[in-house]
Amino acid sequence: MNKATILIVDDDISNIEIMNAVLEDDYEVCFATSGQQALDAARASHPDLVLLDVLMPDIDGFEVCRQLKGDPLLADIPVIFTTGLGDTEDEMRGLSLGAIDYVTKPIQPAILRARVSNHVELKRLRDQLANMAVTDALTGLSNRRQMERLMLTETARLARTGEWLSVIMLDIDFFKQFNDTYGHPAGDRCIMMVAAALTRAVKRATDLSARYGGEEFACLLPGADPAGAELVAQEIRLQIQSLNIPHELSRVSPFITVSIGVASAHCRPDMAPDQWIIEADRQLYASKQHGRDRISMTVFDQQPEDDQPRLTANG
Ligand code: GH3
Ligand code: MG
Ligand code: MG
Repeated sequence: MNKATILIVDDDISNIEIMNAVLEDDYEVCFATSGQQALDAARASHPDLVLLDVLMPDIDGFEVCRQLKGDPLLADIPVIFTTGLGDTEDEMRGLSLGAIDYVTKPIQPAILRARVSNHVELKRLRDQLANMAVTDALTGLSNRRQMERLMLTETARLARTGEWLSVIMLDIDFFKQFNDTYGHPAGDRCIMMVAAALTRAVKRATDLSARYGGEEFACLLPGADPAGAELVAQEIRLQIQSLNIPHELSRVSPFITVSIGVASAHCRPDMAPDQWIIEADRQLYASKQHGRDRISMTVFDQQPEDDQPRLTANG
């Protein structure tokens, strides 16, 4: 397992040296000697824990803590204040700003080691839990919740520049019969293999593949225009075809196939994020209706042409 990273912040070098001596064998340790340096280091290296001095000449520890906790990207980093003051009011203030604990100076090595170890372990478990909350256990793909959360942020981001967004939905054909023929465990293995094929086909770093439901998957392709999305959909079909998973009772092929729906549109601020899912789902349904094992596409909600006459309420 990777060593956790600890950021030690103190304007007094000798304090840093004492704490470093206690922690350097078990952790990756980095340092900052001012509030500004601390904020820069936190943004650059995203440590697993910050040991934060209260009294510093530029930005004091309270302000550093306030800024860390106010930044969504840094707010989850646990902060332990180190203070010589032993002042209850300071402790209260630190805790109310979101610090997780206190250690008092002069540093007692055993106490520092124990507190840091406890909080690093808790942070690790929290990260694990957060990861589980957005991951599908069977396939390791993102789950539906994560997909929908990303739809929100991506549609908002792309709306600023009016870029394309495409969504692909796919569903395994006659999968109930597959389970009935080969058993549920084989069905699970089939879902895992389809997920792996999907990952091979959807390659861009900004793309996302998710298990949307039982034997249903979704892909989010930010920036992909209809032609680009069609290529990805074809690649998905090819990758799944080449798995050659036998499916005797399928009425469309001797092997596992999928039906695919693709929806593309330019993002605009007035468009609801779930519109892409609704449209892609509609196309998926069309693929099922027209014989399965195929791709259906739509480009929806195109921007009105500026020179086109518009109807008004009064005619
Ligand atoms: P269609 O071609 O119209 O999609 O038919 P279908 O049989 O695939 O669709 P239907 O919705 O009737 O059945 C889906 C099946 O997927 C039923 C369900 O038992 C199975 N399924 C859903 N989730 C899982 C899973 O996690 N593991 C396994 N083995 N089967 C699952
Ligand atoms: Mg199905
Ligand atoms: Mg289904």
